[in-house]
Amino acid sequence: MDSNKLRLGIDLGGTKIEGIVLDADGVERCRERVPTPQDDYEATLDAVAGLVSSLEAGVDQACSVGIAMPGSVSRATGLVKNSNSVCLNGKPLHRELEERIGRPLRFANDADCFALSEATDGAGRDAAVVFGVIVGTGTGGGVVINGSLLAGPNGIAGEWGHNPLPWPQAGELPGRACYCGQHGCIETWLSGPGLARDHTQMNGGAMDARTIIQLAELGDAKACATMKRYADRMARALASVINLLDPDVIVLGGGISNCKRLYKAVMSRWDEYVFSDRVDTRLVRAQHGDASGVRGAAWLWPQE
Ligand SMILES: [Zn+2]
Repeated sequence: MDSNKLRLGIDLGGTKIEGIVLDADGVERCRERVPTPQDDYEATLDAVAGLVSSLEAGVDQACSVGIAMPGSVSRATGLVKNSNSVCLNGKPLHRELEERIGRPLRFANDADCFALSEATDGAGRDAAVVFGVIVGTGTGGGVVINGSLLAGPNGIAGEWGHNPLPWPQAGELPGRACYCGQHGCIETWLSGPGLARDHTQMNGGAMDARTIIQLAELGDAKACATMKRYADRMARALASVINLLDPDVIVLGGGISNCKRLYKAVMSRWDEYVFSDRVDTRLVRAQHGDASGVRGAAWLWPQE
């Protein structure tokens, strides 16, 4: 790829499709978004292709195109799987978009794109091994090693959210039923809805994750206690990742990453669970926030 060539990234989300063009230094040249057509596969193809041509008209050149999507394209069948935009599942999205856009495209899971973005020029830059985690409505993850996404045969590297919560304590078993068919998945504890459920279970009433985090920042005793339990569960969940992968940096994104007190609280607890006399892994907040999906999609095409 010549160094003047621009990279275009698309984040195909459930409610909006966002597009961005980055130059070789990662500087944003333009950005656009359109609503995602609901339950309409053909209209989704049209919307993505339309966004690509509109962005390219804006910068007056053809770009490399990478796409972040929920779920993944199966290596075995070429069809979409595991997408919560269910109209994409079982469809040859990769091939049909390449036909419409007229060039090879690269696809990756949205959490993988988040990890790639933060490893390339975000909070995990200069780190050899980066584990990127999104904790929001769900829990996604991705692994970047020496600047490249780890992409295995099943397309699920980093998807630790559907492992069971490790080192379970009294009251945590068997855990809540998860939509994936298992019980007590990490996602059922660490997602925003999981945090809110735990708070309700201990205190009654109903409160969303954002409010709990805000109250904890203000020193509210019940919210602080909820965040303490949450931090211990996150410490255990991430300790199992550290034992397996030994990342230099773990980058947190998603709504819960806005909780400033979480970072120290988790790092002060994970020593107890990690199989090492000391833990030098850093837990840091994402630098690009919500833009990381679309930026990582653009970075799917590396400089050549
Ligand atoms: Zn699950």
